[in-house]
Amino acid sequence: MSEHPTIRPQPGILDIALYVGGESKLAGHAEVLKLSSNENPAGASPRAIGAYRAAGDSLHRYPSSDHAALRAAIAEVHGLDAGRIICGNGSDEIISFLTQAYAGPGREVVHTEHGFAMYRISALAAGAVPVEVAERARRTDVDAILGACSERTALVFIANPNNPTGTMISAGEVARLADGLPPQALLVLDGAYAEFVAGFDGHADLVDARDNVVMTRTFSKIHGLGGLRVGWGYAPAHVIEVLGRVRGPFNVSGPALAAAEAAIRDADFTARCLAENTANRASLTADLRAAGVACDDSEANFILARFASLADAEGCDRALRDAGIIVRRVTGYGFPEGLRITVGDAAACARVATVVREFMRVKA
Ligand SMILES: *Cc1c(COP(=O)(O)O)cnc(C)c1O
Repeated sequence: MSEHPTIRPQPGILDIALYVGGESKLAGHAEVLKLSSNENPAGASPRAIGAYRAAGDSLHRYPSSDHAALRAAIAEVHGLDAGRIICGNGSDEIISFLTQAYAGPGREVVHTEHGFAMYRISALAAGAVPVEVAERARRTDVDAILGACSERTALVFIANPNNPTGTMISAGEVARLADGLPPQALLVLDGAYAEFVAGFDGHADLVDARDNVVMTRTFSKIHGLGGLRVGWGYAPAHVIEVLGRVRGPFNVSGPALAAAEAAIRDADFTARCLAENTANRASLTADLRAAGVACDDSEANFILARFASLADAEGCDRALRDAGIIVRRVTGYGFPEGLRITVGDAAACARVATVVREFMRVKA
């Protein structure tokens, strides 16, 4: 890193560790099985792909700046108030709007020990102080979060289910967290994996019932549109008004808006993906445990496999790579002995299980 003697970014920026995404290539393998970024093994809905292609005829047009059609579709499908939905360039952008608007120098942003990297990155980018709170047995610890809050707390981020642990806390616990926050703090519930929990609304009801809770959602996971970058937030009116001021007018592209609208309306596709993920996740969980690898029950589309040692995690990662399979090392998330494995289709899960089983057998 070369630092300029006089031209310097604002405080906090140089404390940001560059985000390392899931890898997608392996030397010596023309085709890899990529299970490192929690992408949908079924891809995107054919209707979303069709809408994306059709939008190609209008690339010279600026997109809608109020996202009215997409917000109406989201509101219809999820039973929400369209006026309190905001769309972003991925939910990453919603997280960034929140930190820009509410955090800043002298203010704190609370997140959990194994929370999503963007909370810390966005807090630092806004000049705020990230505050990391310990989890209890890889689960969000509401009492520890409440204990870490002060008159400086601006935002509290939790993902439910969480990445990379895959665990979830109950609606009662989340409500207790919202109840216990200091009066100036906003609770942000990241629902990136909410669709993988049957019947779960991502705590939208809590957003409706309170004035200090925001929910973020994404089209990158179950809807399979990670490459297009579309996410959204659902918030009280006072928060929507604030975020609307920091949002750029054309922050979501036309093809992305069109594809996302078609994706969220394709309820059959979403239901099929949920069913597939639930079945494949159960079989991969059972296979990992049978092979002697520990893992919590996951509520998301990935499993955090926990090995007995760093050497074992590295060894199994190497064995998977030799077999053309990329999973995610999660050292940066505080799990040097873990591998986060995206739940692929049935064949992908079987391939992973075979490699892990063989690795554990030879090692024993
Ligand atoms: C994948 C993920 C997101 C989604 O980010 P996008 O910017 O919408 O692609 C958000 N939060 C968590 C915890 C995630 O794992």
